[in-house]
Amino acid sequence: MADYLFAPHNPVTVPIARGGLFAVRRVYCVGRNYAEHIVEMGNDTRDPPFFFAKPADAVVAGGAAIPYPPRTADFQHEIELVVAIGKEGADIAVADALEHVYGYAVGLDMTRRDLQAVAKKAGRPWEMAKAFDFSAPIGSIEPVSAICHPAKGTITLKVNGEVRQSGDLGDQIWSVAEAIAHLSQFVTLQAGDLIMTGTPAGVAPVARGDVLEGAIEGVGSVRTMIV
Ligand code: MN
Repeated sequence: MADYLFAPHNPVTVPIARGGLFAVRRVYCVGRNYAEHIVEMGNDTRDPPFFFAKPADAVVAGGAAIPYPPRTADFQHEIELVVAIGKEGADIAVADALEHVYGYAVGLDMTRRDLQAVAKKAGRPWEMAKAFDFSAPIGSIEPVSAICHPAKGTITLKVNGEVRQSGDLGDQIWSVAEAIAHLSQFVTLQAGDLIMTGTPAGVAPVARGDVLEGAIEGVGSVRTMIV
């Protein structure tokens, strides 16, 4: 037994739909990947993708409720396709990128939009807007062996049964393969990394008591409640 000052934290895991656990190493997010959402946020659709990250322990697996976070009055949902990396790689070619994918899940990139607006305006980091506790609810991971690589299919988010976000994976500006290739130019990807691939239009605030149900055709679902 190593001489740890305190017991190391348990690994963060996401259930695999067909059994087993996916241990999370890092969570990367694509900043802008659907034209309608880029327009609703007042940005330029011709910009290349950019990335930010959340800590692994921001992940909330398996439909658990999440608390309304402190220091915000504008807590918003972003429904996203999540890529689960299963194989190490750096400088990955687009043509080889999908070989690095273990599976896919449906996730929520929960955002303190008011803090993000302040950070953008001041040229400050986004962590306190994006990388806070309980900010990444994620459903179970479906392996590629079961669902292949979804390139099309509806992506929707309902809040209290009403559709708030609706799009299609086919409308992603940067495909999963392109996002992996681009990100791997900056960092070495490892098994256990998750990539949240951006959200379609319709982002909006939530309140305590709201039930969020996201789904992607051919991939799965995610559910959480704000408490
Ligand atoms: Mn997002």
